[in-house]
Amino acid sequence: MEETRIRIAGFTPESIVDGIGLRFTVFVQGCPHRCEGCHNPQTHPAGGGRLYTAEEILEKIERNPLLSGVTLSGGEPFAQAAALLPLARGVRERGLHLCAYSGYTFEELLTLGEPVRSLLEECQVLIDGPFLLAQRTLEKRFAGSRNQRILDVSASLAAGEPVLMEGWQTPA
Ligand code: SF4
Repeated sequence: MEETRIRIAGFTPESIVDGIGLRFTVFVQGCPHRCEGCHNPQTHPAGGGRLYTAEEILEKIERNPLLSGVTLSGGEPFAQAAALLPLARGVRERGLHLCAYSGYTFEELLTLGEPVRSLLEECQVLIDGPFLLAQRTLEKRFAGSRNQRILDVSASLAAGEPVLMEGWQTPA
C-alpha cells in the first residue's frame, strides 16, 4: 500500500521555543481555524506546502542525535491525523518526546473520533486552543495567548479532563 503523505509547510530542525529541550519542529500545511493575528498565515491553505512521507521526515530527525523531541505545529496537525500517525509512532519508537500544538481544545479533539484520538494518544504534551488576539501574551511559555493550555496528554485522557503538564508551565 502506498504510504500516505503529509502536507508540510516547513521544518525548524533545531528549536528551543516549541517545547522543552532541543526539538525538531514540523509545521504542517493547512489550518481551518483562521485565528485573527495568526503568525503563520502561509500555512492556512490546505493545498499548499510540499508532500513528504513519514520516512522522509524521520530521516531528517535521525540526522541529529542531539534532539530530545519533536513538535507538531502548523497549521493544524490534527487536520492531517491519519497521515501524521506513522510519523508520530516513528518518533516515539525512536525514544523521542512528542508534543503537538492544536487550534482545537483538548475537549474538542475528544469529539473528533479516529484517527484524531490515536494521534492524540501518541503525543505526550498538547498545547491546545486557538490563538486569541485579545488574550495575546509574550509571557506565557510556549504559547501565544493566555487561553492556550499545556497539557499532560496521558493524564488528561485518564482523567477525562485537561490536566496541566508539570514542568512545562510558565514559572511564577
Ligand atoms: S490554529 Fe494556529 S496556525 Fe491555525 S490560524 Fe490559529 S494560530 Fe494560525
